[in-house]
Formats: sequence, C-alpha cells, structure tokens
Amino acid sequence: VLVKGSTVIESLSKVTQVVFDKTGTLTQGKFFVEDVVGEDTLMLASYAEYNSNHPIAKSIISAYGKKIDSSKIVDLKEFAGYGIYAKIENNEILVGNKKLMDKNNIEVPSVSDIGTIVYVSKDNKYEGYILIKDRIKEDSKTAVSNLKETNINDVVMLTGDNEAVANSVASTLGITKVYSNTLPDQKVNIVKSLLNEGNTVVVGDGINDAPVLTLADIGIAMGSLGSDAAIEAADVVIMDDMPSKVPSAINHSKKT
Ligand code: ADP
Ligand code: MG
Repeated sequence: VLVKGSTVIESLSKVTQVVFDKTGTLTQGKFFVEDVVGEDTLMLASYAEYNSNHPIAKSIISAYGKKIDSSKIVDLKEFAGYGIYAKIENNEILVGNKKLMDKNNIEVPSVSDIGTIVYVSKDNKYEGYILIKDRIKEDSKTAVSNLKETNINDVVMLTGDNEAVANSVASTLGITKVYSNTLPDQKVNIVKSLLNEGNTVVVGDGINDAPVLTLADIGIAMGSLGSDAAIEAADVVIMDDMPSKVPSAINHSKKT
C-alpha cells in the first residue's frame, strides 16, 4: 500500500465512510461475453469498439476473435457512461446501454438476465444485444466485513452499471447503500453530498474515477488494473488491487 505522505496517514485514521466504485474495484473488471443475440451483433460491436480501451470493449473484441479491418471505421465517438457511436463503411452503429438507446429513440427489448447488457443498433434500428458478465474479486467480501469490524458501517457502492447488476454485487458483499446507473458527472455530485456524512474515502480504478478520487477526503486507487489518471489523482495506491487493503491501511494508520 503506497501512501503519498504522512498527512494521509493522519486522515486515514479518522475515516468514517468508504465509497467503492464497482467495476475494477470490487469486481475484477475483466468482462466475458456470455450470450449474443442477433446475427451481426458481435461483428458490428467489435468494429465499433475496436479503438476503445473500456473493459467492455476488450471482452467483445476477444469474443469476436476475427481480424478487424480498421480501414472500414470511418468515424468514432465514445460517450462516457453510455457507449460508442461509430460509422462503419456506410452504416451508423451504436453500441452501449439502455440510456444510449433511449437517447437515440431506438426501441430495444428488455432483458431479464443479470449482467451488463450491451445493445447494438445499425442505422437507428435495433440489431441485437450482448450479455456481458464480470466476477466479484474473491477479496471484496473480506474488505467489507473487515471495514465493519473497524467500526466503519457506512460502506457505499457507486456504479455506472445497471441496477440489477449493482444490487446483485452489493447483496453478495453486504453493502446496503447503492447508487447505480450513474454518469461520471452524477458520481461527482453524489460524492459531494456523501462528504457531509463524515470523513470519506473513495476507492476507484478507472479514468472516470479521477474526479471523485480528487474530491474525496482520501482517494484510493487500484495500482495494477487502475488507469494512470486514477493513480495520479489518488492519495493512496493499492499495488495488488485487493480491496481488503483498505481496512488494513486504516488500521495501520490508527496504530501509527
Ligand atoms: P463503471 O461505473 O461501472 O466503472 P462506466 O462509467 O465506465 O462503468 O460505464 C457505465 C456503463 O456505460 C457501462 O456499464 C456500459 O453499459 C456503458 N458503457 C460505457 N462505455 C462503453 C463502451 N465502450 N461500450 C459499451 N458500453 C459502454
Ligand atoms: Mg470502474
């Protein structure tokens, strides 16, 4: 656990609330494709996601497994918290969540499976969806129970993912306060209001987490999987990505 200065140890010892990002922080952030609906869905999504660094993009491209002719990608725009727009040859492709489809007035069927659902549309018409899953880190449950033993009962989870996935991860881990479907700027407002509750740690990994890591009393980043922006913005870096190092760092700082 890398601590960027002695003042951080002082504030860590006074923590009363811990806010976790879900993907890549409590879960492994390594998605795998479980199901694909629609004949061209996977191919279209792979072309659209070809230039994206998002873990969702990587899982889709690896499931497709075929060569991608990048000269067919004419235009591209990524929307944080929504998904991607791409022009592939003469077709306009959208790949992303329900919010992205709603925003573009594309009707999609509702899917009852618990997982991240990535919808694909071509020229404003629904094509199909990809069901993607992630695994909870083995260590996350220990992290939450050790925090409670340290008398930190305010444990919160924040995610841009859908409500079903968020609630399922939270209930497995024993987290009762959950914010799902949040866009990066909404995360900032939620953390701002949570700061009123007490001395707050925010734990995250992604590039989109950098603003909330800066805003928190103490920002903690995952050092291995984490983005450079998150590591730079954080006060503490967990080099092996284990969430249980959060209660451990708090306990050590109290003793110190
Ligand atoms: P989190 O808060 O869980 O770390 P993000 O804010 O990165 O997640 O993304 C939130 C949601 O936005 C994802 O669950 C997904 O539905 C959608 N999304 C974001 N980027 C992409 C992408 N490149 N392709 C498809 N969907 C995406
Ligand atoms: Mg994340």
